Amino acid sequence: MELYKTNSIKLYNSLSKSKEEFKPIEDGMVGMYVCGPTVYSNVHLGNVRTFMSFDMIYRYFLHLGYKVRYVRNITDAGHLTDDDSEDKISTKARLEKLEPMEIVQKYTVDFHETLQKFNFLPPSIEPTATGHIVEQIEAIKTILENGLAYESNGSVYFDVLKYNGNGGDYGVLSKRVMDDAISNTRELDGQSEKKNPQDFALWKKASPEHIMRWPSPWGVGFPGWHLECSVMSTKYLGETFDIHGGGMDLKFPHHECEIAQSKACNHSNPVNYWLHTNMLTLNGQKMAKSTGNNILPGEIISGNNNILKKAFSASVTRFFCMQAHYRSILDFSSDALEASEKGFIKLMEAVNTLKKIEASDTSTLDINNWKEKCYAAMNDDFNTPILIAHLFEGVKFVNLLKEGKATLSASDLELLSETMNIFVFDVLGLENSASSENNGGEDKLSGVVEMMITMRKNARDNKDWALSDQIRDELLALGIQLKDGKDGTTFSIN
Ligand code: AMP
Ligand code: ZN
Repeated sequence: MELYKTNSIKLYNSLSKSKEEFKPIEDGMVGMYVCGPTVYSNVHLGNVRTFMSFDMIYRYFLHLGYKVRYVRNITDAGHLTDDDSEDKISTKARLEKLEPMEIVQKYTVDFHETLQKFNFLPPSIEPTATGHIVEQIEAIKTILENGLAYESNGSVYFDVLKYNGNGGDYGVLSKRVMDDAISNTRELDGQSEKKNPQDFALWKKASPEHIMRWPSPWGVGFPGWHLECSVMSTKYLGETFDIHGGGMDLKFPHHECEIAQSKACNHSNPVNYWLHTNMLTLNGQKMAKSTGNNILPGEIISGNNNILKKAFSASVTRFFCMQAHYRSILDFSSDALEASEKGFIKLMEAVNTLKKIEASDTSTLDINNWKEKCYAAMNDDFNTPILIAHLFEGVKFVNLLKEGKATLSASDLELLSETMNIFVFDVLGLENSASSENNGGEDKLSGVVEMMITMRKNARDNKDWALSDQIRDELLALGIQLKDGKDGTTFSIN
C-alpha cells in the first residue's frame, strides 16, 4: 500500500495562516509550482536554500508514493524591480554588451550545475517565461475582456481597485490593506500611466533601447513579471492546483498579483496551499544579490571566501540547511557549518557502521516506535530539524549495537537500516561522502590537503623550514592556499 494512504501531512498554509491537513485535488497526485530563479546572475546560497526546501518536500511526497508534477520555472524575461524599471536581464545584457539570451544561458547553466552539485532532483517541467509569451498575451486579452485591466500608452495594467470592487480579494495573501499596498508600490516617472498606484503591469511598452521585445495587440513590448507564473502554472497544473511555493519575499507583490491575475482570468482560486520559505541571512541581514551580502554555493565548496575558515562539501551545506525548519530564519556562518559538519560525519559513520552490525534473536530497542516518530516529524509541516533529532537517536541505537549494549532481530535491524537510508538519502537528499560521485572527489581532495597540512606541521615542529615551505609553495602552485591562523592552518581551493 502507498505510504500516502497512512501518512497524512499537515502543512502550514500561508493563505489561512494555519496548519491544514493536505488533501490533494486528485487522490495520490500532487501538483506543485515553485517560482524559479531570475537568471541574470549566479544563484546565492539563499536562493539555493529555498529551492532545497522544495526539493525536500518533493522528495517526501515521492517517497510517500504520490505521483508529483513539479513545475519550477526559469524567469528569463519580465522581472522588473518595479513597474517602471528596466527588465533585470535587459539591464545586465546592456551592461555586459551581450545578447539577453547569452545572459540567460550563462546563468541557467550555473543554476543547473549548482543544483546538480547539491543533489537536487530535477523538476518534472522547467518552463521559461520567454517560451510562454503567446500564452501571456492570451491571458492579458482575457483579463481585458473581463474588464479588469486597461490599456494605457501601449502598456496594460491590472485594475486593482476595480478587481476588489467586483468582489476580488487583492491583499488576501499578504494581508496588506490597500493603503499599505500603495505605500509599498514604488512609483517613478510612469505613474501617470496608471489609474491608481497599486495597479501593476501585465504588459509594458518597450522603449526603443529595451532589447527584449515582442509584438502584441498593444504594440511592441514585454510581459510584466507576475504574469508568467499565473500562465505557466495554469497551463501545466490546471486552473486550480495543490501547492504553490516560493520564498517569503515573493508573497508581496508577486504572489498577491498572481492570485488576482489568475482569478481575473479563470474565475477560480488558483492555489489550495501556499508554502513560503524563510530567509537565509548573513551577518543578520537577508542574503541578496542586489546588496552583495551573499555567499555563492561554489565558494563554500572551494572555501574561497573570507567569511569561511575552510571549505565545506555540498552535503554538509545541505545538512546545515536541513537542520533548520523551512519556515525559520537561518543565519549562515563558518562556525555553524563546522558544527553541521561534525553532525553530518557522525550520521554518515552510523549509516556505514550499521551495514556491519549483525542481527540477534531478540530486539532490545523499539525500532517501530522510532520509525513512526521520524514520519510524524515530516508529517508535521516537513519538520526536518525534529526529523534530524530522531535520526541522531538512530545514531545512538547504532552505537549501542556496536558496543554490544543492545541487540536487534534481523527484521528490526533491516527496518532501522532501511528507515535511516530513506530519511538520510531519499528525503533529506544527503550523499554519503564515501560513495558519492559528486563530492567523493572533493572530499578526498580535502582529506589529502588535511594530510599535507599535518605533514607541514610536523616539519615545522622539527624546524625543517625548507620542507614546510616546499609543501606550502607546491600546494599554492596547484591553486590550494594555506592560511595560518591562531586555531591552526586552514585552506582554500581556487
Ligand atoms: P530570485 O531569483 O531573486 O527570484 O529568487 C529565487 C528564489 O530565492 C525566490 O523564491 C526567493 O524568494 C528566494 N530567495 C531570495 N533570497 C533568499 C534568501 N536570502 N533566503 C532564502 N531564499 C531566498
Ligand atoms: Zn513566480
